[in-house]
Amino acid sequence: MTRKAKARLLWAGLFLSVLGLAAVWFLSQNREAELQTFAMGSYVRQTVWGPGGKAAMEAASQAVADLENRISWRREDGDIAQVNRQAGQRPVPVEPETLALLEQMRQLSEASGGAFDVTIGPVAQLWDFDSGPHLPEAGELEAALALVGYDRLLTGGDALFELASVPQELFDGDAAALEQAAALLDPGMALDLGAVGKGAACDAALAQYQEAGVKGAVIAVGGSIGLYGQKPDGKAFRVSVRDPEGQGSLGVLELPGGYVSTSGSYEKYFEQNREKYHHILDPRTGYPAESGLVSVTVWCPPEMDWKWPGALSDGLATACFVLGLEDGQKLLEGYGAEGIFVDGDGAVAVTPGLEGRFSLTAPGYHREAGAP
Ligand code: ADP
Ligand code: MG
Repeated sequence: MTRKAKARLLWAGLFLSVLGLAAVWFLSQNREAELQTFAMGSYVRQTVWGPGGKAAMEAASQAVADLENRISWRREDGDIAQVNRQAGQRPVPVEPETLALLEQMRQLSEASGGAFDVTIGPVAQLWDFDSGPHLPEAGELEAALALVGYDRLLTGGDALFELASVPQELFDGDAAALEQAAALLDPGMALDLGAVGKGAACDAALAQYQEAGVKGAVIAVGGSIGLYGQKPDGKAFRVSVRDPEGQGSLGVLELPGGYVSTSGSYEKYFEQNREKYHHILDPRTGYPAESGLVSVTVWCPPEMDWKWPGALSDGLATACFVLGLEDGQKLLEGYGAEGIFVDGDGAVAVTPGLEGRFSLTAPGYHREAGAP
């Protein structure tokens, strides 16, 4: 072989190696991984793109499980169960993350005029939608309603001074614990984060995706979805919105990221005396909300400056379901969030920020202009 030919061969080999390395790099950047687990009474489905995807999904699963332990009122050692157990007695120091979530959910309770109420526990437990759904008696419902009121949830330093018994050993010389406490003012009161847990789980997962530095990811926890980063094809995320009357899809949302949550009366209900009772309750009456809506989907865009935007989208969906179209739209506007409202007659109203991002595909529905 001549020297020239040898050199040419060397160059060709080098070129092919670089090409190969580039291909391997490209594939790893766009590698897709999936995982399905179970938490918060729902399937958790994750898809992640980019290197480190598998580890990121496992970390996210763990973060969701930890969150559930902290915020479910059923987990006896968790923050929320402890605050409930000590209602009317003493403040309880909680994790900073729990405190931030509680404070934001109290703020949402206030902004929604109590249509969403983070202290709905006593009423929700009476209906017992998860274990033994039944129609409560009017008397017990009234007694439970008297124990609902987000303004009787205290957090931070305030929690200490309103209650009689403050365990000094907990707080003596510990200023941090003092600022990290939560308390319910009356015995029998109970926090219930059931309406926002799945959205909060999406927040917890996205924090893990960010830490792992993956390229893009989607997590779905029941009716809540978190969208992170970029898909390999650079296109918008496509999110299917469930048809509230059937099993299929109402339509498709195309979104750049953020959080999507749906609350619908079709999700959990029972029938008694030929009446249908669903699990989204009106804290003003104690009975299932009757706003004429059958489902509300809320999108919190990615650029929002909120610590728990996933939980917010979930809570807003519940609040809007209770409030109905007009007041619901106003609430969303105040937060810079967007929504899709579906009523029992098949009318679908979409807020301005979702115009052009939502296509209605299910037959039997019609678009309706939102309130001006
Ligand atoms: P899921 O996704 O489990 O169906 P939702 O997000 O639709 O839950 O919220 C329903 C749950 O939220 C109920 O089971 C109850 O625990 C709680 N809840 C119901 N109504 C309200 C309300 N108005 N405010 C706050 N929480 C509520
Ligand atoms: Mg909800």
